Amino acid sequence: MSAESKLQMCTRCIMDAGVPDIRFDAHGVCNFCHMQDKLEALFPLGDAGRREMERLADQMRRAGKGRDFDCVCGVSGGRDSSYCLYVVKELGLRPLAVHFDNGWDSDIAKENIRKICQRLNVELHSVIADWEESRDLTNATIKACVPYIDLTDDVGIASALWRTAAKENIKHIVLAHSFREEGVTPLKWNYFDGRYVRALINQHSTMKYKKFKNVDLHHVFWWAVVRGIRVVNLTNYYDDTGTKVERILNEELGLADTGQHHYDNEIFALVYYYARHKFGFDWRVVELSARVRTGVLTREEALDIMQEKPFFENKDVVGYCLKKQGWTWEEFEAILAAPNKYYTDYPNWHSLLKLFKQPIKVLSRMHAFPAHAYEKYFEA
Ligand SMILES: [Zn+2]
Repeated sequence: MSAESKLQMCTRCIMDAGVPDIRFDAHGVCNFCHMQDKLEALFPLGDAGRREMERLADQMRRAGKGRDFDCVCGVSGGRDSSYCLYVVKELGLRPLAVHFDNGWDSDIAKENIRKICQRLNVELHSVIADWEESRDLTNATIKACVPYIDLTDDVGIASALWRTAAKENIKHIVLAHSFREEGVTPLKWNYFDGRYVRALINQHSTMKYKKFKNVDLHHVFWWAVVRGIRVVNLTNYYDDTGTKVERILNEELGLADTGQHHYDNEIFALVYYYARHKFGFDWRVVELSARVRTGVLTREEALDIMQEKPFFENKDVVGYCLKKQGWTWEEFEAILAAPNKYYTDYPNWHSLLKLFKQPIKVLSRMHAFPAHAYEKYFEA
């Protein structure tokens, strides 16, 4: 870690020169800070945010007229998606909650999902992955030696949301990604497209998948362009920073705190441990940097948190994950020692997507895809 501490660090957030594709301006401020400023300008809070949110709610209501639901809302049992569902109900919308269960939900997350849907009177649709497949998919990603090993669960979530919306004829999907609280991950740490996912599976899976469905360009084209399904990242329009969200979730709705961001899903202990020990980066830097930029934390407080022993540096917790995935420590350590790879080492659609950057930008402004995803893939 001593070599890392000598790397240039952004003068505003806590990202340093070890982050792939980071650039610093003349004042030493990084491009990820500029990206967040751009998103803040695109999605102002206060009255402007409220008005835009009401406008989108009207749009969803009109599209939902004569149907059972106005929108699909992804729920994980964690903070961001639970609060988003609360906001959706406050707006008077009729959501269908969709949960993708990859076999790693914590008991707290399961109970939170049940509670919030019951208290808010929302119908819940669970898409349950086949455990053998889910495990093999994650293991394929681990064997691929890429930075983010929960990729196929993100595919499962995207697939569950889009396919449910298409099947139920619901025109809007509401997402709860918070650029203010979670930040936007560097592309090389977390990349996703259908061709890349297929390549990892073809090279490293050990079984034929019957239930898993990939999400490729032609699917997205069909859902977004032909079926006109819109993806509204509602969290952009309200202030979800700080502890007021927890207060509403805990006191008004009786939800329990899942602890760390993403810890509604227990595999994240392994995801974080693997990245730190194989790639030498700590995922927390993304969310802490975002919170420094929004002013919820000072830079010094974030740096202090980075010095503390993280929740995933626990051999029992990681050992439990490895056992469930079917790895011995010895086998896992061989993976940690193997050469690191990135999406650029596998077949992917990124060059092709770059050719369609402008239409994709237009579609992102029309809420076919979230704006932060466009920024991450094309502007970072
Ligand atoms: Zn920065």
